[in-house]
Amino acid sequence: MTSSSTASGHDPAHPPSASLIDLAGARIDRDGHGDRAANPTESPLAPYLRSIVDNSRHLVMVVSPRGHVTVMNKAAQSILGLSADGSATRPPLTAIERRDRAAVRTALRKAIAGGAEVLVTARLTTPTIGTIPVDIRLQAVPSGPGQAAHLIVTAADARERIEHDRHLAEQAARADRHLAEHAALHRITSAAARGDAFPQVMSRAAAELAALANTECGLIGRFADRRCTIVGLHDPHPRMIAGDCILLEEAQLLRRVADEDLAGRIDSYERLDTVTGNTSPKLGFTAAAAAPIHADDAVWGAVMVATRNGGALSDEVISVLHRVAEAVGVAVTAHQTRERLANDALTDPLTGLPNQRAFQDRLAVEVARSRRYGRPVSLAILDLDNFKLLNDAHGHPMGDAILVEVGRRLGAAVRRDEMIARIGGEEFAWILPEADIDTATEAIERARRTVSATPMPQGISISLSAGVCDLATANGSPDDLVRMADSALYWAKSHGRDQTFQFSPDTIEALTADERMRRIKRDQSMAALRALARAVDQKDPGTLAHSERVADLSCELAARLKWSAGDALRIRDAALLHDIGKVGIPDAILLKQGGLTPQEFEQIKRHTTLGSEIAVESLDSEQREWIRQHHERWDGRGYPDGASGLEISEGARIIAVADAWDVMITARSSYATTRAPDDAMNELLACSGGQFWPEAVTAMDDLMAEQTGLGASPRSRAE
Ligand code: GH3
Ligand code: MG
Ligand code: MG
Repeated sequence: MTSSSTASGHDPAHPPSASLIDLAGARIDRDGHGDRAANPTESPLAPYLRSIVDNSRHLVMVVSPRGHVTVMNKAAQSILGLSADGSATRPPLTAIERRDRAAVRTALRKAIAGGAEVLVTARLTTPTIGTIPVDIRLQAVPSGPGQAAHLIVTAADARERIEHDRHLAEQAARADRHLAEHAALHRITSAAARGDAFPQVMSRAAAELAALANTECGLIGRFADRRCTIVGLHDPHPRMIAGDCILLEEAQLLRRVADEDLAGRIDSYERLDTVTGNTSPKLGFTAAAAAPIHADDAVWGAVMVATRNGGALSDEVISVLHRVAEAVGVAVTAHQTRERLANDALTDPLTGLPNQRAFQDRLAVEVARSRRYGRPVSLAILDLDNFKLLNDAHGHPMGDAILVEVGRRLGAAVRRDEMIARIGGEEFAWILPEADIDTATEAIERARRTVSATPMPQGISISLSAGVCDLATANGSPDDLVRMADSALYWAKSHGRDQTFQFSPDTIEALTADERMRRIKRDQSMAALRALARAVDQKDPGTLAHSERVADLSCELAARLKWSAGDALRIRDAALLHDIGKVGIPDAILLKQGGLTPQEFEQIKRHTTLGSEIAVESLDSEQREWIRQHHERWDGRGYPDGASGLEISEGARIIAVADAWDVMITARSSYATTRAPDDAMNELLACSGGQFWPEAVTAMDDLMAEQTGLGASPRSRAE
C-alpha cells in the first residue's frame, strides 16, 4: 500500500471529509469506517486496483449507501479542490455548472435507484484547468446480498470524446451530402437519358443546383453571340425567365467563364462595385458563383448560383458547381445526340436537304392546310437527265459532288415557305404552298434553267427534267398529286428531257399507283443491295463492277429484244443482283485457281438459289426467278434445275449471255484469259443454241456491230 493512498477511505491518516458534498441529498460519511467493516477480507489484487484508481486521470469516488464518500482518488481531489487534509474547499456539486446541475441530480437519483450504469455529461469548473465538459458515470453496486448499494462515480474529461463525436458527425453529414449530391446529379442525367424535354431537364437541374449549393437561386445558361441565354432557372423571386439573355459584357462572372473557361465567385457585389464602378447587377444578387459547362470539348454554357440576402456562399461552392456542370454537360450532350439522330432521320446525309420522310411529313401538312383554307398547293418532281452516263463518264464521287451542288442550287432557289427535298438518287421534290399549277410551273422552269445554266465543277454541264401538278388537279389526293407530278416528269423525259411538263389529264396518262410504288420501292431497297452487289464484286479484284456491267448489258439486250422500258429496268435491277448469292460462298472456293472438286462445285451452284432468296425484299418473284435460273443452259445442261429452252425464263436467258460476255472480255485473275470483243463474240456465236438462247446472242451481236460501227458480223449473218 502506498503512503499516498489518500483516496482510500480506509486510510485513517486521511479520512474523507464529511462535508464533501450532498449528492442528490445523500449524506456523506465523515469517516467511512462502517463501510470498510463491510469488506473485512481484502483480495490480494486490491492494492493494485487501488493504485490504478488512485493514479487515474479520471475522477473516481465511491459513495456509501448512507451517502458518505468512502473512496476518492487524487484526480477527484484536485478536480474538486480537496485540501491536503481531505476536506473539500467547496461541495462537489457546486463545481458543476449551474445549468447542468439538474441533469446531474436526475442522473444520481436514477443511479441510486439501481440498475444499469447512468451516464451524464456536464460542465465542470476545476481550480486548475477551468471549465471543461466531463462524462460522469454513475453505477450502483450492492455491498453484498440483500445489502444497500454503494455508488461508484467516475468522471472523465470529455473534450476529446466530444471533439471526436463532432468529427464523426461531420463525416456523416458529409457522406449524407455526397449521397444527396450523387442522387441529385443522377436525377439530372437520367432525366436527360430518358429523353425528358430539354427545358424541363434544365429547370430541374437549376433547382437541384440551388439545393446542393444551398443558395436561393440556381441558373443554367447557354453561351452564344456574347450572350448567356437562360435555359434553366430556379429563383423564388424571379426577375428574369428562361429564354432571357444576359449580355456577357455586363456580367463579369459569366464573361470569365465564357472567355477563360474558368469558374469564379463574387462574394460581395457591393465590394466589386466600388472597385470597378459597375452598377449593381440587374438580378440584384449580393453574391454569386459560376462554372463552365462543357459539351463536345467546348464551353457550352455556365451553371451559376446566387443569393440576394447577403448570405455567404459555402467554401465548397465551386466544387459543387463543377460537379453539377459535369452532369449538365452530360445532359446537354445526350440532348444534342438525340436531336442529331432525329435530324438525321429527316435529312439526306449527302446534300443536307430534307429526305423522303421529311418530304412526306411536310406534304401531309401542306395538303391539310390547303384543304382547310381552300388555298392551292403545288408539287414538282425534278430528276437529273442521263445521270447514269455522267456517273459512268466521271465516276461516282464526281456524281455525288454534282448532286451536292444541284441540291445547293435548288435549295437557294426555294422560297421560305417552300420545301425542296431529295427523295431519290437524283430525284428532288419541291413543295410550293400557295401556288397553283401555272405559277408553280413558271417558278420551277425558272429554277431549272438557273441550275443548269452555270456549269458544274470541272465544267461538266447537266440538265434537269421536271413534272408539276397541283392539288386541285389531283382532286385533293396527296397520293395522286405525287403520282401525277411523276407522270409529268416521265413525259418530260420521254419528250427529250431538259424541260418542265405540267400534268394535264388530257395529254398525260398518269402512272398507275403500282408503277409509282414500284419505282419508289425499287429506289429505296435497291440502295442496300447495290452496296452488297459491289461487295460481292470486290471479293474478286478482277471482277470489279462486274454486276453493274452485266446489269447495263442485260438492260440493253432486253430493249433490243423488244422488252418494254419498265421491264428493261426490272432486268437491270435483277442482273445487278445476279451474283449476290456469292456472299454465302467461302472465298477459298470462290477464288480458287484451277479445278473445283465436285463438292466445291455444288457449293458454287448454290449461289443462284441463294441470290434469289436474298433479294426477296427488293425484287418481285419473276425477277428473282431470273436470278435463280441465270446459270441454266439452252441445251438443259445448266443448273440448278437442268431446265432447257423455253422452260428457262427469258430474263435468265438474257442475263446468261450478258454474264458470259462480261466474264470473257474482262481481265480476271481467277478465270481464263481475257478475250478481245471479236473473239468473245465468236465464242458466244459458237455456243448459240447450245449454252445460249440464240436470239439473245443475235441481239448481242447486233449491239456489238452497232457499237463498233461495223454491220452485223459475217458469222452471225451466216448462221
Ligand atoms: P434519265 O435522264 O432518264 O433520268 O436518266 P438517268 O440515267 O438519270 O436515270 P436513271 O434513274 O435510270 O439512273 C439514275 C442513276 O443515278 C443511277 C445511278 O447510277 C445514279 N445515282 C443514283 N443515286 C446516286 C448517288 O447517290 N450518287 C451518284 N453518284 N449516283 C447516283
Ligand atoms: Mg435521271
Ligand atoms: Mg431517277
